[in-house]
Amino acid sequence: MGGMRLDNSYARLPPRFYARLDATPVAQPRLLKLNARLAAEMGLDPAWLASDAGVAVLAGNAAPEGAEPLAQAYAGHQFGGFVPSLGDGRALLLGEVLAPDGRRLDLALKGSGPTPFSRRGDGRAALGPVLREYVVSESMHAFGIPTTRALAAVATGEWVMREDALPGAVLARVAASHIRVGTFQYFAAREDLEGVRALADHAIARHDPAAAEDPEPYAAFLRGVAERQADLVAAWMAVGFVHGVMNTDNCTVSGETIDYGPCAFLDAYHPAAVFSSIDHGGRYAFAQQPRIALWNLTRLAECLLPLLAAEEQPAIAKASAALDAFAPRFNARWREALRRKLGLMERDDALADALLQAMAENEADFTRTFRRLDGDARAEFRDPAAFDAWAEGWRARVAAEGMDPAARRAMMQAASPARIPRNHQVERALAAAAQGDMAPFETLLAALEHPFDDDPRFAAFEQAPRREERVTATFCGT
Ligand code: AMP
Ligand code: MG
Repeated sequence: MGGMRLDNSYARLPPRFYARLDATPVAQPRLLKLNARLAAEMGLDPAWLASDAGVAVLAGNAAPEGAEPLAQAYAGHQFGGFVPSLGDGRALLLGEVLAPDGRRLDLALKGSGPTPFSRRGDGRAALGPVLREYVVSESMHAFGIPTTRALAAVATGEWVMREDALPGAVLARVAASHIRVGTFQYFAAREDLEGVRALADHAIARHDPAAAEDPEPYAAFLRGVAERQADLVAAWMAVGFVHGVMNTDNCTVSGETIDYGPCAFLDAYHPAAVFSSIDHGGRYAFAQQPRIALWNLTRLAECLLPLLAAEEQPAIAKASAALDAFAPRFNARWREALRRKLGLMERDDALADALLQAMAENEADFTRTFRRLDGDARAEFRDPAAFDAWAEGWRARVAAEGMDPAARRAMMQAASPARIPRNHQVERALAAAAQGDMAPFETLLAALEHPFDDDPRFAAFEQAPRREERVTATFCGT
């Protein structure tokens, strides 16, 4: 085996959907990390990928067979303000891999050099953010949450100029597709109805083949996207994830998490928690995420209106009906996750909300509290009596339900990870990597591979940050 054969169905869309260009070669590609398991899933030979020829492809210095590298055009609402032209300014879609299991997967390079969409940027990425995306996206996958994946990180041997000069890197990213709400907005903003239609047909073929058979294919597609986003945001919140930059260009129609710029996992729980240094208004705070997802979906619905019906009013009615799927779906998923986290057979929203409120008031660590409900969770509370007061009612509920204790414990452990990519631990691993020491990064990856299993080897990764270790702000600085 060896080599790589790509198809590119996106390149068969009209030329105004993208700019065709090759990656800009890098000085000295050196493989930092290869995801051998993902490679195998994709039907790629890890040994070949790690060879000089494979690394040249992963760095953008050589194009694999069938590659038609292109920068995708897209628009987007960034913090609520519409930008009609964003596009891949530092990424290229090389093409699609047809995996042995039948999936069609985008292979893209991030940090591959300037494109016509770059405007002022250099088209490059720094090593820290590339490795950050690698570890957080792979951790997301380990939680069972839909996400783009990291196939490899390659150091470029070049410097990128940010506030300081930083070592450069390229991330090889794998996705169900890179179609965003903002991709639809790009064409809708240009009143290019044929573009919207071609994109919708492409997205339906790829993500919602059943919608093609529906009497209302575009409404069925919209409903499908809404359901996937509802599931996604509920799954994020169940592990304390704050995406941080839920702009419409970072909202996929596949329902995969994309863009790991300023994201963070909660340490202490608070519904208003914000990490991104540029999110001054708290638009993308932890508990805002379902509302924002629906806002983004409404932007998608606006793009699709002309496809839903010839007249505006019936089109709006169809769009609203499709979007109505979001709130109940999100609520059901989020509440279901909380039910399992509390080890209950029946949902008890009031009981769950009371715990969350006590956690917020007591700066209780989100991950540790849920993982240790049956153990020493009270130690996570500034005032442990606040936990005791809640736990009395909870234990009475659990006793009344009479569920088998081992089954209950297994359910709870499968719903609340022991380890998450804690900001302070991620930053420590990235700092070492920037100095050329990849060992802490490898250990962190290993600690997060089976996050629901107790594992004494990784006990250090269950620790919450000490006050002085807390990371309170994250930066987009890719
Ligand atoms: P992101 O923050 O990664 O979602 O990017 C938002 C927009 O800025 C996209 O259009 C990117 O392609 C563009 N962009 C971000 N960083 C760079 C860079 N270093 N060079 C060129 N374009 C960039
Ligand atoms: Mg983005």
